[in-house]
Amino acid sequence: MPLRVLILGGTTEASTLARKIAGDTRLAPILSLAGRTASPRPQPIPTRVGGFGGIEGLVDFLRREAIEAVVDATHPYADQMSAHAVAGCAAAGVPLASLVRPEWTRHADDRWRVVADAEAAARALGAEPRRVFLSLGRQDVHVFAIAPQHHYLARLIERPEQEGLPPDLRLLQARGPFDRDAEERLLREERIDVVVSRNSGGDATYAKIEAARTLGLPVVMIARPDKPAGKVITDAEACVAWLHGLAPRGV
Ligand code: NAP
Repeated sequence: MPLRVLILGGTTEASTLARKIAGDTRLAPILSLAGRTASPRPQPIPTRVGGFGGIEGLVDFLRREAIEAVVDATHPYADQMSAHAVAGCAAAGVPLASLVRPEWTRHADDRWRVVADAEAAARALGAEPRRVFLSLGRQDVHVFAIAPQHHYLARLIERPEQEGLPPDLRLLQARGPFDRDAEERLLREERIDVVVSRNSGGDATYAKIEAARTLGLPVVMIARPDKPAGKVITDAEACVAWLHGLAPRGV
């Protein structure tokens, strides 16, 4: 019987892994999406959508579906799901690997100020009104209402759900990957003074960091949360090898 695998996804890494294992007869994967995006990209493996209902719900799911391995390939800032994965897999006795995207590292010409969270980022913008490019999760945008003196341009995949958004906010709905020249043009045309970003890592959204470097703009970088993890793996290839190590041979 193929190894029954649950992949916690919603990221480029999860989609890459799904493509690599689609059709692999040693594995029987299910990709899980939180359901945040109204029209997620089609996936080549069976997919389920929606929360599990906390740690207990996840444990029930693992048992009901007879899951034998879990890969946590959620976004670096999705720390709740990762905490649930660690606790749920421990409770159900299921091995867990965490596919972690390496962080971006500071280049000599980068003008980064690293802060702990979105609130600290809003405070780091200072008292003087500035034109700010926000590149973060939609659940963080409302936090910038504590610094209403700034003009914000927020690029998001979908609109924020929260009330109480900053008064001078323009939304730009777009999904990466983004190109470096286009990012430079956007920052120039919008006369951006400062970029606020998460340290997402990966190539798809790195162009804005390069564009800020070229233009000499400061970046307020929101540090990653300390995410609980299983066995840490940094690329999809190694993750397939880990799964094959658990899978029965000759299926
Ligand atoms: P989160 O704060 O860690 O999770 C909140 C809750 O959403 C979890 O407790 C769980 O609900 C549900 N959930 C999260 N990921 C799930 C998944 N893959 N499958 C089923 N349920 C899931 O996560 P988040 O920041 O809301 O992110 C949600 C999803 O969007 C993740 O899959 C993540 O990879 C993706 N994503 C997030 C970001 C980001 O900035 N955080 C960026 C890009 C993509 P229950 O407790 O009910 O199980």
